[in-house]
Amino acid sequence: MSFDVQKIRSDFPILSREVNGKPLVYLDSGASAQKPRQVIDAISTAYAGEYANVHRGLHYLSNLATDNYERVRATIARFLSAPREDEIIFTSGTTEGINLVSYGWAAPRLQAGDEIVLSVLEHHANIVPWHFLRERQGVVLKWVEPEPDGSLPPEKVLAAIGPRTKLVAVTHMSNVTGTVVDVAAIAQGTDVPVLVDGSQASVHMPVDVGAIGCDFYCITGHKLYGPSGSGAMWIRAERQAEMRPFLGGGDMIRTVTRDAIEYADPPLRFEAGTPGIVNQIGLGAALEYLMQVGMDNIAAHERKLRDHARDSLRKLNWLSIQGDAADKGAIFSMTMQGAHAHDLSTILDKKGIAIRAGSHCAMPLMDFYGINASARASFAMYNTTDEVDALVEGLTFCRELFA
Ligand code: PLP
Repeated sequence: MSFDVQKIRSDFPILSREVNGKPLVYLDSGASAQKPRQVIDAISTAYAGEYANVHRGLHYLSNLATDNYERVRATIARFLSAPREDEIIFTSGTTEGINLVSYGWAAPRLQAGDEIVLSVLEHHANIVPWHFLRERQGVVLKWVEPEPDGSLPPEKVLAAIGPRTKLVAVTHMSNVTGTVVDVAAIAQGTDVPVLVDGSQASVHMPVDVGAIGCDFYCITGHKLYGPSGSGAMWIRAERQAEMRPFLGGGDMIRTVTRDAIEYADPPLRFEAGTPGIVNQIGLGAALEYLMQVGMDNIAAHERKLRDHARDSLRKLNWLSIQGDAADKGAIFSMTMQGAHAHDLSTILDKKGIAIRAGSHCAMPLMDFYGINASARASFAMYNTTDEVDALVEGLTFCRELFA
């Protein structure tokens, strides 16, 4: 399928609205992406005519909802080129997914003095669950700094691995700088299990977890043009076998007596309680949409946006860009002397341009760059080069105000 950005835009109803009397220029997809009609319709159909609780139901609607819901597991496996469907565990998003690994796999296995290697590029979702283990169990966090341009050479990560390293936890793409990390070189360069935070990368490039060779890979639905509260963690079967359940309740057990419990087989063992049935059905529709458009086509379009933005933003010599590595996605984190990031966001908003300002849940990276906040423009498949120009014009207007 050839890539037609106007056709894509027409699938996203919200993109035709105005904000503050101006056409919306949505450059905050790194925080959460907008939803195509196909996802909205799938959610609406599921609630309007196909809803019931899933699993173990004996009536028509329960079986239908279970089929629709379980089919998404196969869709996610296909999207990630996962070798096995039962290696996909539904989560409410990356935060839950990484906590599942922290509580279910790492907590029972790691002793005081054992190490987790992680990068300074990480989002708090891939930091705080490991800090819990530091606080509660004496696990040591070993940090790897990126280069000043935001790149993270795999050799640096591999060099931090020692005899007591039990896990490497690293992002596939920074949500602040857009840096793409060569996670395959990391995973294939060590026998230590590797967790990859794919929250950003999976939106912008094809992912093949088998080819990467990692052990855990997470995605979060709301960034993938799907519903908030949806997502998944791919966990290699050998690692699943080492895990203990995280949340206990219905659906994750086979039998319960007064004295004992017997767990269900994975993946249900790690999915307690009534799940986000319709959220996951919506995620399935989003992934089908992405695969139909083609992840390679999306990556090629976004490379054009990135290059145009990079060329244009670099010309603004009063603007600092945090991290401008060659291999990066279309995510730009910026600061302007004399203007706070919040001011930039507020002024751009008056022009209908939505960006994000703050620490982007990445305080260690803010420290690394010696700032406490930045303004971040993050592009998605529905953005255009005209919108890059609108951002540049808006920033120039801010500069004139603050100079
Ligand atoms: N990791 C990265 C790189 C992210 O960008 C985000 C969201 O901003 C997360 C993790 C957390 O995802 P969620 O809030 O969907 O759990």
